[in-house]
Amino acid sequence: MTNEEMINNYIKKETPQKIIHYKHIYPSHKWKLNSKGKPDNFAFEAGYHNGYMCQRCDYCFCEHCDPDGFDKKPCIVEYDECSSCNKKIFNYKKIFYCEYCGQKLDGNNIEEINKIHVR
Ligand SMILES: [Zn+2]
Ligand SMILES: [Zn+2]
Ligand SMILES: [Zn+2]
Repeated sequence: MTNEEMINNYIKKETPQKIIHYKHIYPSHKWKLNSKGKPDNFAFEAGYHNGYMCQRCDYCFCEHCDPDGFDKKPCIVEYDECSSCNKKIFNYKKIFYCEYCGQKLDGNNIEEINKIHVR
């Protein structure tokens, strides 16, 4: 790497870049399956409660308390990514550095990307 490239890299890393917020919208949940390949009504258990759980969005419901729970909530998965290295960001502040690539990021500059999946 030449001196000029190093300087340019440094300047880019120190210039706050945007964060990308992804929202994936699915037409239905993807239930955890049991050993027979059927949606598992014991995907979670707590005392007398047990029920189904989505592998994508972690939505779950008790089959006893909420027998109509299958379609009560849409299946949506949201997360944030560093726009430089595309790794996931879990908490962010106004200005901070990506823990993976060291890029300075601007928590107020968020690009929203919606992805609608057909299945
Ligand atoms: Zn219950
Ligand atoms: Zn889901
Ligand atoms: Zn990064």
